[in-house]
Amino acid sequence: MTGARRDSCDVAVIGAGMAGMATALFAAERGLSCIQVGNPGGILFASGLLDLFGVHPVAERRLWRSPYAAIAALAREQSDHPLARIDASSIRTAFEIFVAALGAAGLRYAPLGDRNRSVLTSIGTIKTTFGVPLSMVAGVDALEARPPCLLVDFRGLREFNARQIAESLGHRWPDLRHRRIEFPGTEAAPELYAAHLARALESRQTRERTIALVKPLLGDALAVGFPAVLGLARASEVHAAFEAGLEMPVFEIPTMPTSVPGLRLLGALETAVSARGVRRRHQASVRALAFDREAGTAALDVEGVPGVERVVARAVVLATGRFTGRGLTADRGQVRESILGIPVLQPASREAWHQRDFLDPSGHAVNRAGLAIDDAWRPLDADGKPVWPRLFAVGSILAHQDWMRSKCGSGLAISTAWAAMEQVARQLRGTGAG
Ligand SMILES: Cc1cc2nc3c(=O)[nH]c(=O)nc-3n(C[C@H](O)[C@H](O)[C@H](O)COP(=O)(O)OP(=O)(O)OC[C@H]3O[C@@H](n4cnc5c(N)ncnc54)[C@H](O)[C@@H]3O)c2cc1C
Repeated sequence: MTGARRDSCDVAVIGAGMAGMATALFAAERGLSCIQVGNPGGILFASGLLDLFGVHPVAERRLWRSPYAAIAALAREQSDHPLARIDASSIRTAFEIFVAALGAAGLRYAPLGDRNRSVLTSIGTIKTTFGVPLSMVAGVDALEARPPCLLVDFRGLREFNARQIAESLGHRWPDLRHRRIEFPGTEAAPELYAAHLARALESRQTRERTIALVKPLLGDALAVGFPAVLGLARASEVHAAFEAGLEMPVFEIPTMPTSVPGLRLLGALETAVSARGVRRRHQASVRALAFDREAGTAALDVEGVPGVERVVARAVVLATGRFTGRGLTADRGQVRESILGIPVLQPASREAWHQRDFLDPSGHAVNRAGLAIDDAWRPLDADGKPVWPRLFAVGSILAHQDWMRSKCGSGLAISTAWAAMEQVARQLRGTGAG
């Protein structure tokens, strides 16, 4: 890379999905200098709901009220799962710091507590999750108490249908009503987009016109639900204005991806890490990674906007995700780790990747493929030794987990980021940095 720009840091984080963002945040919280490379990953598709751990065992689809009790059961029954390696107090601390950082960046969550919560989805199903944005919390309460409640949707917003939700739940929630209104100023538009509505509602005038349209429809309702379009960057202000204007609890229901809550989460995380001095290369990727064992540093070749760059780091965290994130790739024969070719724990043959029945409740072996790590969160080479003493791995690239089926996406990302960063800090202290 002759002629490339150069930069250096304590920790280079490869990946800017949930795990990469959490890692960068925790690195900065520990006072380590950090460069982060990668585009947003799965966050854009997220619902804003932070799952910790909801389902165990996966094959039984057993839902847990307490994520911590579920993780304790996991630790007894499947000790190689990444979450089973982390004690409950570390997970609590990681989540508290994570949501506090989001709150300071303008995206406020309800106090976390110890229990999972049930949240309405845009297709009328109920999702078990842990961290709930404040704008959705009144919906959790309403779903529990089932008072007279109104769901409102907007003509032309195809991804959210209040009637469908009310009809799915009608047998269990008879006082759940639905009404469709025209979003102010969109009378001629055949189709509406959630992000456009969210931005429009940041205008006081549009907000007041919308509230005025909903008010006469309230009847005996004690709470009102909307698609999650109540503001983007100024969502707290918009939500508060709706509650004040309608004089009752107002809640949002997450829409289909790419959703406004996903955009808010991404925006808040970007604000949080940038405010802590993380140097982000968000339109770039790492093309090569090499280690100078004598100097004790890693060199990352970064390509993208605004060009090529050589980053020298004392520690590196791989948070590159699975197949959609591009941390893992699969060819006809096997699954590979895409930057260094680190061995991936996987079934012996391709025939064993998937169950015969695609909907088999126990999931597919290929979804549990990933990197094997040691007790310090370092990926292992073919001899079972750390690839490099200060190379760490976090998030969904890790083996022995199926985050989608266990409902532990954010839990895995945030908790492993915290646990690995503890090890990074320890290792760097040992070398005089950090
Ligand atoms: C459809 C969908 C719905 C979801 N819903 C929820 C939900 O309801 N609740 C919840 O808690 N979570 C949800 N999630 C998010 C989920 O928590 C995370 O996506 C998941 O945990 C994986 O995160 P990750 O950071 O490990 O990987 P990814 O999100 O895949 O991120 C990987 C990152 O690595 C980067 N990368 C890969 N290779 C390179 C390279 N060579 N150089 C630089 N960067 C690289 C990618 O660009 C990306 O930034 C959802 C995700 C999806 C996709």
